[in-house]
Amino acid sequence: MIDFGYTLSKSGTLKIENLDDSRYKALHKLEPDAYKCIGCGSCTASCSAGVFTELSLRKILLSMQRGEENDYLKQLQSCMLCGKCMLVCPRGINTRHLILSICKIYSVNK
Ligand code: SF4
Ligand code: SF4
Repeated sequence: MIDFGYTLSKSGTLKIENLDDSRYKALHKLEPDAYKCIGCGSCTASCSAGVFTELSLRKILLSMQRGEENDYLKQLQSCMLCGKCMLVCPRGINTRHLILSICKIYSVNK
């Protein structure tokens, strides 16, 4: 095969039947408002901790929906529970409470 110096990107397709969204469902039991999230990213854009860390509530919610375990959960530690994200959320989600519920599910001490 000719080496062109690049390769095709791996497919990003998700097989919905293989997704383990049990934690996302558990989150909805604790926090029914999680369904309201439209993934707009306003919370991430306004996050003070996000300026210095990888903390992104939007990505965490998306990862949970996809059943992915990733490093974002470690970033929950850097959340200061300041509530700025709550002020800008267009869906009126109590994001601070949401973050605490996510921490509870993943046993992250807060
Ligand atoms: S601001 Fe609210 S609706 Fe937008 S991604 Fe964050 S939690 Fe979801
Ligand atoms: S409560 Fe946490 S996630 Fe929300 S803006 Fe403050 S530091 Fe960021």
